Amino acid sequence: MATIQVCCPNCNGLNVVKYGRQPNGTQRYRCHNPNCERQVFLLDYHNRPKMPELKRQIIEMALSGNDIRETAQKLNISPGTVVEVFDLLTSFGHSTPTTGLTSRA
Ligand SMILES: [Zn+2]
Repeated sequence: MATIQVCCPNCNGLNVVKYGRQPNGTQRYRCHNPNCERQVFLLDYHNRPKMPELKRQIIEMALSGNDIRETAQKLNISPGTVVEVFDLLTSFGHSTPTTGLTSRA
């Protein structure tokens, strides 16, 4: 049972192990973060609406000082999706435009 360098798409934690395969052969992973509500996930997000790449873009825009509406408009997504990612950021201690940018040393 080897621990591998895979980020959990939910909590971005690295405490992730391989967890068998889907019937179609896709590797499954399991997040061992006790605070993470997502336990098992796949790295194959091709058919999913919320892709890690999109989250990354949202986070980058948030950290650049865009607010929720601007981010949603520029990425052509719903504000709800932006709020979800912003909430995730906030839970990790990052400040977002909704709470005001604090220290950027
Ligand atoms: Zn997780």
